[in-house]
Amino acid sequence: MHGMMEECRIPGRDGGADAVYRPGKLVCIGRNYAKHAAELGNAVPTRPMIFLKPASSLVASGGHMVIPSASADVHHEVELVCLIGKAGKDIREDEALDHVAGYAVGLDMTARDIQQQAKEKGHPWSVAKGFDTFAPLGEFVPSDAVPNPQDLVIQLSINGEIRQDGHTRDMIFPLARLISYASSIFTLMPGDLLFTGTPEGVGPVASGDRLEAQVEGLPVLTVDVR
Ligand code: ZN
Repeated sequence: MHGMMEECRIPGRDGGADAVYRPGKLVCIGRNYAKHAAELGNAVPTRPMIFLKPASSLVASGGHMVIPSASADVHHEVELVCLIGKAGKDIREDEALDHVAGYAVGLDMTARDIQQQAKEKGHPWSVAKGFDTFAPLGEFVPSDAVPNPQDLVIQLSINGEIRQDGHTRDMIFPLARLISYASSIFTLMPGDLLFTGTPEGVGPVASGDRLEAQVEGLPVLTVDVR
Protein backbone atom coordinates (compact mmCIF):
# COMPACT_ATOMS: atom_id res chain seq x y z
CA MET A 1 0.00 0.00 0.00
CA HIS A 2 1.39 3.37 -0.97
CA GLY A 3 -0.91 5.75 0.90
CA MET A 4 -3.71 5.32 -1.57
CA MET A 5 -6.21 8.16 -1.78
CA GLU A 6 -9.33 7.25 0.19
CA GLU A 7 -11.37 10.34 -0.60
CA CYS A 8 -11.69 13.43 -2.75
CA ARG A 9 -12.70 16.53 -0.87
CA ILE A 10 -14.37 19.62 -2.34
CA PRO A 11 -13.97 22.58 0.02
CA GLY A 12 -17.26 24.02 1.27
CA ARG A 13 -18.15 27.60 0.41
CA ASP A 14 -18.43 30.30 3.09
CA GLY A 15 -17.44 28.04 5.97
CA GLY A 16 -19.80 25.25 4.89
CA ALA A 17 -18.85 21.60 5.25
CA ASP A 18 -16.60 19.95 2.67
CA ALA A 19 -18.22 17.54 0.23
CA VAL A 20 -16.43 14.19 0.41
CA TYR A 21 -16.42 11.61 -2.39
CA ARG A 22 -14.99 8.14 -2.58
CA PRO A 23 -12.90 7.96 -5.79
CA GLY A 24 -14.64 5.91 -8.45
CA LYS A 25 -13.43 5.15 -11.92
CA LEU A 26 -10.75 7.24 -13.58
CA VAL A 27 -11.93 7.99 -17.10
CA CYS A 28 -8.98 9.22 -19.16
CA ILE A 29 -8.75 10.82 -22.59
CA GLY A 30 -5.86 10.14 -24.95
CA ARG A 31 -4.66 12.50 -27.69
CA ASN A 32 -6.85 15.46 -26.78
CA TYR A 33 -4.26 18.09 -27.77
CA ALA A 34 -3.15 18.09 -31.41
CA LYS A 35 0.52 18.89 -30.72
CA HIS A 36 0.75 16.06 -28.18
CA ALA A 37 -0.79 13.58 -30.63
CA ALA A 38 1.82 14.72 -33.19
CA GLU A 39 4.81 14.43 -30.83
CA LEU A 40 4.03 10.72 -30.33
CA GLY A 41 3.35 10.17 -34.02
CA ASN A 42 -0.39 9.64 -33.56
CA ALA A 43 -3.21 10.94 -35.76
CA VAL A 44 -5.69 13.43 -34.28
CA PRO A 45 -8.79 11.41 -33.29
CA THR A 46 -12.21 12.13 -34.77
CA ARG A 47 -13.94 11.28 -31.50
CA PRO A 48 -12.61 11.12 -27.93
CA MET A 49 -10.20 8.24 -27.27
CA ILE A 50 -10.99 6.76 -23.86
CA PHE A 51 -9.14 4.49 -21.47
CA LEU A 52 -9.46 3.76 -17.74
CA LYS A 53 -7.04 3.83 -14.83
CA PRO A 54 -7.73 2.10 -11.51
CA ALA A 55 -8.54 4.24 -8.46
CA SER A 56 -5.67 2.41 -6.71
CA SER A 57 -3.23 4.44 -8.85
CA LEU A 58 -4.21 7.70 -7.12
CA VAL A 59 -1.72 9.41 -4.83
CA ALA A 60 -2.18 12.78 -3.11
CA SER A 61 -0.04 15.88 -3.49
CA GLY A 62 3.01 15.70 -1.23
CA GLY A 63 3.35 11.96 -1.86
CA HIS A 64 5.69 9.85 -3.97
CA MET A 65 5.41 8.61 -7.55
CA VAL A 66 7.19 5.28 -7.65
CA ILE A 67 8.86 4.10 -10.87
CA PRO A 68 7.97 0.40 -11.21
CA SER A 69 10.79 -2.05 -11.92
CA ALA A 70 8.88 -3.18 -15.04
CA SER A 71 9.52 0.13 -16.84
CA ALA A 72 12.62 2.10 -17.82
CA ASP A 73 10.69 5.01 -19.36
CA VAL A 74 7.94 6.54 -17.21
CA HIS A 75 6.55 9.81 -18.61
CA HIS A 76 4.68 12.71 -17.04
CA GLU A 77 1.40 13.91 -18.57
CA VAL A 78 -0.11 16.93 -16.84
CA GLU A 79 -3.89 17.12 -17.14
CA LEU A 80 -6.92 19.09 -15.97
CA VAL A 81 -9.08 16.74 -13.90
CA CYS A 82 -12.74 17.12 -13.02
CA LEU A 83 -14.63 15.31 -10.29
CA ILE A 84 -18.15 14.19 -11.12
CA GLY A 85 -20.60 15.23 -8.39
CA LYS A 86 -23.89 14.13 -9.92
CA ALA A 87 -24.70 10.81 -11.58
CA GLY A 88 -25.65 10.79 -15.23
CA LYS A 89 -26.10 8.69 -18.34
CA ASP A 90 -26.29 10.14 -21.87
CA ILE A 91 -25.62 13.59 -20.44
CA ARG A 92 -26.33 16.40 -22.88
CA GLU A 93 -23.39 18.60 -23.76
CA ASP A 94 -25.20 21.77 -22.67
CA GLU A 95 -25.82 20.24 -19.22
CA ALA A 96 -22.49 18.46 -18.84
CA LEU A 97 -20.70 21.01 -16.68
CA ASP A 98 -23.59 20.86 -14.15
CA HIS A 99 -22.31 17.36 -13.31
CA VAL A 100 -18.87 18.66 -12.27
CA ALA A 101 -18.35 19.15 -8.53
CA GLY A 102 -14.75 20.39 -8.68
CA TYR A 103 -11.47 20.70 -10.53
CA ALA A 104 -7.91 19.67 -9.74
CA VAL A 105 -4.63 19.16 -11.55
CA GLY A 106 -3.57 15.57 -12.09
CA LEU A 107 -0.76 13.56 -13.65
CA ASP A 108 -1.48 10.65 -15.97
CA MET A 109 1.83 8.85 -15.46
CA THR A 110 2.57 6.47 -18.31
CA ALA A 111 5.11 3.67 -18.77
CA ARG A 112 5.88 4.71 -22.35
CA ASP A 113 7.94 1.61 -23.14
CA ILE A 114 5.17 -0.73 -22.00
CA GLN A 115 2.58 1.39 -23.84
CA GLN A 116 4.63 1.23 -27.04
CA GLN A 117 4.77 -2.56 -26.88
CA ALA A 118 1.02 -2.68 -26.20
CA LYS A 119 0.33 -0.45 -29.23
CA GLU A 120 2.44 -2.69 -31.46
CA LYS A 121 0.67 -5.83 -30.25
CA GLY A 122 -2.80 -4.31 -30.17
CA HIS A 123 -2.95 -4.92 -26.42
CA PRO A 124 -4.76 -2.72 -23.89
CA TRP A 125 -3.01 0.11 -22.05
CA SER A 126 -4.10 -0.95 -18.56
CA VAL A 127 -0.60 -2.01 -17.49
CA ALA A 128 1.18 1.01 -19.01
CA LYS A 129 -1.24 3.38 -17.26
CA GLY A 130 -2.29 1.52 -14.13
CA PHE A 131 0.63 1.05 -11.73
CA ASP A 132 0.27 2.24 -8.13
CA THR A 133 1.07 5.98 -7.82
CA PHE A 134 0.51 6.56 -11.57
CA ALA A 135 -2.29 9.07 -10.90
CA PRO A 136 -1.03 11.86 -8.63
CA LEU A 137 -3.90 14.25 -7.92
CA GLY A 138 -3.91 17.74 -6.41
CA GLU A 139 -6.45 19.35 -4.12
CA PHE A 140 -9.80 20.38 -5.54
CA VAL A 141 -11.52 23.69 -5.91
CA PRO A 142 -15.32 23.82 -6.28
CA SER A 143 -16.53 23.98 -9.87
CA ASP A 144 -17.93 27.49 -9.45
CA ALA A 145 -14.37 28.72 -8.77
CA VAL A 146 -13.56 27.86 -12.41
CA PRO A 147 -15.89 29.89 -14.64
CA ASN A 148 -14.40 28.53 -17.88
CA PRO A 149 -12.40 25.28 -17.85
CA GLN A 150 -11.34 25.96 -21.46
CA ASP A 151 -9.43 29.11 -20.48
CA LEU A 152 -6.64 27.84 -18.23
CA VAL A 153 -2.86 27.71 -18.51
CA ILE A 154 -1.60 24.18 -17.73
CA GLN A 155 2.05 23.49 -16.87
CA LEU A 156 4.43 20.90 -15.53
CA SER A 157 7.93 21.50 -14.22
CA ILE A 158 10.66 19.11 -13.14
CA ASN A 159 13.08 20.38 -10.50
CA GLY A 160 11.89 23.92 -11.26
CA GLU A 161 12.30 23.70 -15.04
CA ILE A 162 9.13 23.97 -17.15
CA ARG A 163 8.63 20.96 -19.44
CA GLN A 164 4.97 21.25 -20.43
CA ASP A 165 3.37 24.62 -21.02
CA GLY A 166 -0.06 24.43 -22.58
CA HIS A 167 -3.53 25.93 -22.54
CA THR A 168 -6.89 24.19 -22.13
CA ARG A 169 -8.31 26.11 -25.10
CA ASP A 170 -6.22 23.77 -27.26
CA MET A 171 -8.20 20.67 -26.26
CA ILE A 172 -9.54 18.97 -29.39
CA PHE A 173 -12.72 17.97 -27.52
CA PRO A 174 -13.77 20.39 -24.76
CA LEU A 175 -14.72 19.14 -21.32
CA ALA A 176 -18.49 19.28 -21.94
CA ARG A 177 -18.11 17.10 -25.01
CA LEU A 178 -15.89 14.63 -23.11
CA ILE A 179 -18.43 14.27 -20.30
CA SER A 180 -21.29 13.85 -22.76
CA TYR A 181 -19.39 11.27 -24.81
CA ALA A 182 -18.05 9.32 -21.80
CA SER A 183 -21.56 9.18 -20.30
CA SER A 184 -22.86 7.59 -23.50
CA ILE A 185 -20.63 4.60 -22.60
CA PHE A 186 -20.38 4.59 -18.79
CA THR A 187 -22.90 5.85 -16.29
CA LEU A 188 -20.92 8.59 -14.59
CA MET A 189 -21.17 8.39 -10.80
CA PRO A 190 -20.34 10.83 -8.00
CA GLY A 191 -16.63 10.37 -7.25
CA ASP A 192 -15.67 9.48 -10.81
CA LEU A 193 -12.72 11.44 -12.16
CA LEU A 194 -12.18 12.60 -15.71
CA PHE A 195 -8.57 13.16 -16.88
CA THR A 196 -8.89 15.39 -19.92
CA GLY A 197 -5.65 14.71 -21.81
CA THR A 198 -2.21 16.29 -21.87
CA PRO A 199 -0.62 19.06 -23.92
CA GLU A 200 2.71 18.55 -25.68
CA GLY A 201 6.05 18.27 -23.90
CA VAL A 202 5.68 14.84 -22.26
CA GLY A 203 8.92 13.17 -21.27
CA PRO A 204 10.65 10.83 -18.83
CA VAL A 205 11.03 11.26 -15.08
CA ALA A 206 13.89 9.98 -12.93
CA SER A 207 14.26 8.98 -9.30
CA GLY A 208 14.90 12.07 -7.21
CA ASP A 209 12.92 14.40 -9.48
CA ARG A 210 10.37 16.77 -8.02
CA LEU A 211 7.32 17.20 -10.25
CA GLU A 212 5.20 20.32 -9.90
CA ALA A 213 1.97 20.39 -11.86
CA GLN A 214 -0.13 23.49 -12.15
CA VAL A 215 -3.36 24.61 -13.70
CA GLU A 216 -4.16 28.31 -13.45
CA GLY A 217 -6.18 29.04 -10.31
CA LEU A 218 -5.89 25.52 -8.84
CA PRO A 219 -3.67 24.31 -5.98
CA VAL A 220 -0.22 23.16 -7.16
CA LEU A 221 0.36 19.40 -7.21
CA THR A 222 3.80 18.33 -5.98
CA VAL A 223 5.16 14.78 -6.06
CA ASP A 224 8.63 13.36 -5.62
CA VAL A 225 9.77 10.52 -7.87
CA ARG A 226 11.55 7.50 -6.49
ZN1 ZN B 1 -2.93 11.26 -20.53
